[in-house]
Amino acid sequence: MTLYPLALRLDGRRVLVVGGGAVATRRVPALLAAGAVVHVVSPELTPALRAQLDAGRIEWTARRFRPADLDDCWLVQVAVNDPGAAGDVSAAAQDRRIFCVRADDREAATAWTPAVTRHGPVTVAVTDGGERRRAMAVRDLIAEALQETLPTEPGYAGVALVGSGPGDPELITVKGRRMLAAADVVVVDRLAPGVLLGDLRHDAEVVDAAKIPYGPSATQDEINRILVDRARAGKFVVRLKGGDPYVFGRGGEEALACAQAGVPVTVVPGVTSSIAVPALAGIPVTHRGVAHEFTVVSGHLPPDHPDSLVDWPALARLRGTVVVLMGLKNLARIAKTLIGDGRAADAPVALVQEGSTERQRLLRSTLASVARDAEQAGIRPPAVVVIGDVVTALDHDAGNGAPRVTAPVDGMDE
Ligand code: SAH
Repeated sequence: MTLYPLALRLDGRRVLVVGGGAVATRRVPALLAAGAVVHVVSPELTPALRAQLDAGRIEWTARRFRPADLDDCWLVQVAVNDPGAAGDVSAAAQDRRIFCVRADDREAATAWTPAVTRHGPVTVAVTDGGERRRAMAVRDLIAEALQETLPTEPGYAGVALVGSGPGDPELITVKGRRMLAAADVVVVDRLAPGVLLGDLRHDAEVVDAAKIPYGPSATQDEINRILVDRARAGKFVVRLKGGDPYVFGRGGEEALACAQAGVPVTVVPGVTSSIAVPALAGIPVTHRGVAHEFTVVSGHLPPDHPDSLVDWPALARLRGTVVVLMGLKNLARIAKTLIGDGRAADAPVALVQEGSTERQRLLRSTLASVARDAEQAGIRPPAVVVIGDVVTALDHDAGNGAPRVTAPVDGMDE
């Protein structure tokens, strides 16, 4: 039998509890916690139930069950041991199509109560077709895991600059996720995976930094202002940034702005696209006997730009891996400069677009041809450029039995 799980919204709805003994005593509090209007029918009440009655939390009819007791109820909980009496309730519930929970006989019941654990707004219900004990064991394991990953009162304050990883929502850190779950305000980047916002508190404010309608530097000022203002108002602010917050993400500027305003800042490093995206395309940024170094540079300025801080001739002399972020627009000039300064024209190059997502694309080429190939293939940002022999380091060699490293790639791979 396949069960159909439901979460009942009992708030303000009548639930009948037949019986006033130990079972009813255990079951009533959960019904009350769910906001149900609990009506107990039983000649007797335990002292605990009597206390609930005295406090005005339950209604009590001091007699045995009558079918008409069910008339205005959404659910009935049978909490008597006498099989005859319990059977009468079941039959009356059946007539009225009201679901009936039976503590005495689960086979006769039309609904089962699962083992439950709650964690803030999260309710986990576990059922195991009759094996109550196993359901409880599973519930306990989940409760423990939740306790570890989502503490309810973390006591976070100020601003946290959290790296979201390269795009796959599972690539955020445990700490980053924990902070996100506790955030009062989340300021998100274009590159941060939107799905992560599904796990926020209901009342969390989400500010989409990509939608702030100013020029780039005014936008940064505005972001800084939002971080500082919200934190000063006592909110815990998570600034969620693509990859790692301090790799070309202007995270340092945000940290400084907060520090200058006297707002405490925490940094939660993230999985940076500069290493992870090549890895997910089957390219290790270092490899024994191939590359003993990797250099990550920004390609947002062309090599001859007066504001460029990158020593391109020095990069051309390196033997190791060069990873270029934000380099698509200037790819032709970057490749030309590197070749002009001594890097081999046939050096392997990979472009990985939207790494770690379902839309990941990989293009392999050489330094001499990559700009043209990228244009032809329509490669778009965000993409990383990887230059060096590591690009082919894990290629399968039919002769040596090396493992084939697989990564999601489309037909563009040569
Ligand atoms: N802080 C980020 C980088 C910000 S700069 C990090 O550590 O990853 C933005 C650049 O990062 C993009 O232009 C692109 O070059 C690269 N990038 C970020 N996410 C990417 C992804 N999923 N796939 C490919 N490149 C990505």
